[in-house]
Amino acid sequence: MVGGAGRMGQALAENLNLIDGLVVSAVVDPRQPDHLFGASHFASLEDVSPAEIDVVVDFSQPASVVASAQWCAKNHRGLVIGTTGLSDAQLAEVTEASKSTGIIMSANFSLGAVLSERFAAMAAPYFERVEIIELHHDRKVDAPSGTSITTASRIKEARRAAGRVTPEEPTRRFTLEAARGADAGEGVRIHSVRLPGLVAHQEVLFGGAGEGLTIRHDSYDRVSFVQGVAIALAHVDETPGFTWGIDELIP
Ligand code: NAD
Repeated sequence: MVGGAGRMGQALAENLNLIDGLVVSAVVDPRQPDHLFGASHFASLEDVSPAEIDVVVDFSQPASVVASAQWCAKNHRGLVIGTTGLSDAQLAEVTEASKSTGIIMSANFSLGAVLSERFAAMAAPYFERVEIIELHHDRKVDAPSGTSITTASRIKEARRAAGRVTPEEPTRRFTLEAARGADAGEGVRIHSVRLPGLVAHQEVLFGGAGEGLTIRHDSYDRVSFVQGVAIALAHVDETPGFTWGIDELIP
């Protein structure tokens, strides 16, 4: 578990251990973890013997994901990545590593979030306009969320496939700059909210003639990501290849 001392790493280390067939044997983090849950602590993945583990899970920060991917490629171990905020160059390095081992990467491992992306793509062709509001805890360092970017991509893809034209932006005068949020392209706007007390939440608001549809998902607790990570772990192996998202792994 790379990033194992972090908020997600600790929640995953605790809860993956409860699933039959899964044992978190190594917590990798330069920081000392609060809890080890029976695992050993290593400051770096380089200190871990490949013989001791079957697969690596990474919920850390973008620069370490590249190191994890290269370690997994070299040692032929599958890798499940939940870390978000990677640059294009970092993503390219991860993809390169997947030529030597299996890598599954998802911006969101919660089943509800994955289904809400699927539902948003289903609804997208039927509505003229759509805006996304993503809401997270106030210690999240990247914005907008990886989930909102993936959701926007799926909506745009579905709208394009249905031949929908990009709606014109109605705002002509900004009293406050950026009041319309981030432009995710093709008329999709993303608004990021950061507040204490929140975990991970998202609303996709569709608007059409005389009606609206809101698809809302709430992760109230980090345990919501465990099942999706377990599904990815069941599918990832050392067979080379890159899989983005777990949608296709959920029937
Ligand atoms: P966090 O800051 O609490 O934890 C990150 C941990 O990574 C820290 O303990 C830090 O010391 C550690 N770290 C830094 N460099 C490292 C290295 N080189 N090797 C090993 N560990 C290293 O953050 P968090 O809230 O746990 O989130 C971690 C990541 O997971 C973020 O990118 C977040 O956006 C993402 N996330 C993804 C999902 C998902 O479903 N995909 C869900 C929640 C969070």
